[in-house]
Amino acid sequence: MTPRAEELLTLTPQGLYCPAGDFHIDPLRPVSRALVTHGHADHARPGHAHVLATPQTLDIMALRYGENHARATQVAAYGEAIRIGDVSVRFIPAGHVLGSAQIVIERGGLRLVVTGDYKRGEDPTCAAFECVPCDVFISEATFGLPVFRHPPIRDEIARLIASTELFPDRAHLVGAYALGKAQRMIALLRAQGYDRPIWLHGALEKLSDYYVAQGIELGPLRKVAAQDRAKLAGEIVICPPSAMQDRWSRKFPDPIACFASGWMRVRARARQKGVELPLVLSDHADWDDLIATIRETGAGEVWLTHGEADALAHWCAGAGIAARPLNLLGYGEEEAQS
Ligand SMILES: [Zn+2]
Ligand SMILES: [Zn+2]
Repeated sequence: MTPRAEELLTLTPQGLYCPAGDFHIDPLRPVSRALVTHGHADHARPGHAHVLATPQTLDIMALRYGENHARATQVAAYGEAIRIGDVSVRFIPAGHVLGSAQIVIERGGLRLVVTGDYKRGEDPTCAAFECVPCDVFISEATFGLPVFRHPPIRDEIARLIASTELFPDRAHLVGAYALGKAQRMIALLRAQGYDRPIWLHGALEKLSDYYVAQGIELGPLRKVAAQDRAKLAGEIVICPPSAMQDRWSRKFPDPIACFASGWMRVRARARQKGVELPLVLSDHADWDDLIATIRETGAGEVWLTHGEADALAHWCAGAGIAARPLNLLGYGEEEAQS
């Protein structure tokens, strides 16, 4: 007899919990044993006694929180089966940011997959998403509405490059989240032949340096110093989204505010943020990829952790798949990550 899914995964106030292995996944508060899917702040938090994660996620946590973010850490290589208590776990690439993983939990012929955040679109900066057939698929649903269909990524990058040619007297300030989005943006610009130096706000340096140290080619990068700003006409400057409204952004020559996010699909949202050049560039699966992935897993049951769960649950019901919105709070709050 296969054990029930609830023995392998359930909900606690700290987040998803595996009773058979006595561990949490991406816990919101400090716990004794945490399995962490990736380094974004809403999933990777400091203060756990023990953290199991991929080597890159552990490095990123150490960069952000210091070496002592946990009492002990353990490395999970992609694909390696690790026994914890009564279950076996594996970390599989999620295609979201460097080091990001889905977590597979197995016991007695029952297999659950927790996606964390994931995407299927092109990203030269991290290992591509791998679909794992399973019984229960626990998915994010950030863009779980049919209105969210991400356009071809290459078109978005081409629009940015074209704008720098059209407006050589204006600086292009691109708001992009510091972990993943910024480096993916740079790598995609390089893949499309943009070989000028790309200028970085100081807040992006540490993680970009880490990506380069991990062997990801980002081409010539320059740090923006105060005296440079007036001279950056026609250049691409990448900064955290919060810096776009700062005084910091005002010294650039006639800056064009660009913002890289899946939310830029919603024109009203771009206008409200004062974004002149919205770039639909997301590190989350869009509606088409969410439903294609659910089908591909062959799962008979889908749990939806966070995001737009209701429409996706409705789609599952229509497709004969049992769906359960978990509506976990505390994830996806940082809109810019999306
Ligand atoms: Zn994330
Ligand atoms: Zn997230």
